[in-house]
Order: sequence, then C-alpha cells, then structure tokens
Amino acid sequence: MAAGDTGPTLGLDPALLEIIVCPQCHGDLLPVETPEGGELVCQGECRLAYPVRDGIPVLLVDEARTP
Ligand SMILES: [Zn+2]
Repeated sequence: MAAGDTGPTLGLDPALLEIIVCPQCHGDLLPVETPEGGELVCQGECRLAYPVRDGIPVLLVDEARTP
C-alpha cells in the first residue's frame, strides 16, 4: 500500500481519496496528473481511469477510460 505517500492529489481532499474506491472492482484509485487535468487510475482488477473534472472525481464506469 502507498499510505503516507505524498503523490499528486489533483486538488482533491486526501481524506476523500482514502475512502473512494473503484465502482467497478472496488480497487484503490491512484491520482495521476494528465494534460487534461487528472484522472484516478484503478489499481485493482479493471485498471479503468476515471476523469477528474473541475476538481470532482467522476466515478462512473461509463465515463472511465479503458486501459
Ligand atoms: Zn477497478
């Protein structure tokens, strides 16, 4: 686990990042900075990347980018 690491938060509340999980497989989500702003990449089975729009994570499988 990466608890205690200080990676990019994409402007999100670290407490929020700790509690949200992938809606598809319930894996952990890793914030990753992208040219578009950022996304939350599933570290579980599905590896989907969820967009972060205007500082709000869009945890919808239909909106996620497939790896
Ligand atoms: Zn997942």
